[in-house]
Amino acid sequence: MRPSVGIVGGGILGLTAAYRLLRQGVGVTLFERSNDLGGLVGSFDFDGRPADRFYHVVLPTDDRVRGLAGELGLGDDFDFRPTLTGFYDRERLFSMSTLREFATFPLLAPHDRVRLASFVLRCQRTRNGDALDDVSLLNWLRKTCGRRTVARLWEPLLDSKFDGHYDDLPATYMWARTKRMSKTRDAAGRELMGWLHGGYQRLVDALADRIRELGGTINAGVAVSGVAGSGSGVVGIAVDGAVQPFDHVLCTLLPPQAARLLPEDVAARVPDHCRYLGVICVIVRADHSVSPYYTLNITDRRIPLTTVVETTHVVDPAWAGGHLVYAAKYVDPSHADLARPEADVAADYLGYVERLFPKLSRSAVQAVSVQRARMVEPVHTLGGRKRIPDMHPVPGLSLASTAHVYPEIVNGQAVIGVADRAVDGILRRLPDTGIAQAA
Ligand SMILES: Cc1cc2nc3c(=O)[nH]c(=O)nc-3n(C[C@H](O)[C@H](O)[C@H](O)COP(=O)(O)OP(=O)(O)OC[C@H]3O[C@@H](n4cnc5c(N)ncnc54)[C@H](O)[C@@H]3O)c2cc1C
Repeated sequence: MRPSVGIVGGGILGLTAAYRLLRQGVGVTLFERSNDLGGLVGSFDFDGRPADRFYHVVLPTDDRVRGLAGELGLGDDFDFRPTLTGFYDRERLFSMSTLREFATFPLLAPHDRVRLASFVLRCQRTRNGDALDDVSLLNWLRKTCGRRTVARLWEPLLDSKFDGHYDDLPATYMWARTKRMSKTRDAAGRELMGWLHGGYQRLVDALADRIRELGGTINAGVAVSGVAGSGSGVVGIAVDGAVQPFDHVLCTLLPPQAARLLPEDVAARVPDHCRYLGVICVIVRADHSVSPYYTLNITDRRIPLTTVVETTHVVDPAWAGGHLVYAAKYVDPSHADLARPEADVAADYLGYVERLFPKLSRSAVQAVSVQRARMVEPVHTLGGRKRIPDMHPVPGLSLASTAHVYPEIVNGQAVIGVADRAVDGILRRLPDTGIAQAA
């Protein structure tokens, strides 16, 4: 009999792990609470057309995403385009997309621009960020970029990304982010961003098809109510109180969500040291392009959004049925906008988009949707490297989630890496069937 693994969560992590385990000859049953697979990378029916729930791009350097798509026969279906990045500061919009624009970046004095350029170079050249894990991000930025740049540029951006709570972050955050983004530019310095035709959902659907072809079972619309077992070993997955036995269980939920499913003595072995962010996106489909930029950085905090992203600079507008604009705000999970009536949130966020881009006319708006998620991303604080949760805390159980992504930035590329690590660990721990040795 081949060994069996039960997987909790049908996002990109759970699906990738299921596919990889099946390819190693392991039996897999995956449980996804929602009727639709994909989790955060999934799409929804936006007034008759599919659209990403949350804006997603693939970078040319995302080799794990592209490799996985290639294995599933989708490798030639990516489209990469140069994109523009904008800034909104003191009621002014300006582009900061090319090296030439960087040289005249109006937010900073010439001397501060030179320091910023050498900061970017330093991030690019630093291969290993371990030494930055105990270094305060703000102190590091003040030392490398100067106090004026921190006050004019970094603090407003951190404020908008972390909902005002960024004084305990490690320097690894900005190092990893700068390194990831600066590796993807074309000769003029513009960022290259990519789209898999049909969106990430196409990768999700291809994974689900292959999982079924390989004999795996996908139970969509089935919420796991518990993980059965104790500190001496996990034995199965409970749905509505009925336990299905498995040789091994992989839970892909974030630690606070996983803890609610685990036996008490198991949960006690995986203390959680992270904070979390939720997100709110108001999505507009318009007849015309609204923003010249793919991403807009907002340093004028009178507009309380994190960013405005017009995905149809990368996504084909013909496929989307118009131009898609995401007004996004990352928030603390207790933020009021996560529970306010949708119509109120939509009206406020649309108002901010109109202030940023007065050329947006209401008559051009075809459809509006509000997408929210209370917990989407862990925030690792100073010294976080030493507190990454144990991936295999008790026999028969593996926990793998975006909480294991560190010091990288959370994205599909990093998540596929976590799935691969989890699968390696599971194969080594499965009952002695020969699979572990072969792997
Ligand atoms: C606004 C935003 C923009 C992003 N942009 C990008 C981008 O441009 N590029 C990029 O690469 N990445 C991007 N990301 C990151 C990317 O979406 C995530 O890294 C990735 O989707 C995480 O996948 P996951 O499988 O770990 O988690 P999830 O997608 O959250 O999957 C977890 C799944 O578990 C299910 N679940 C929960 N409870 C239960 C239960 N009790 N029983 C069964 N199932 C359960 C959930 O329904 C969900 O489907 C973005 C994220 C956000 C929020």
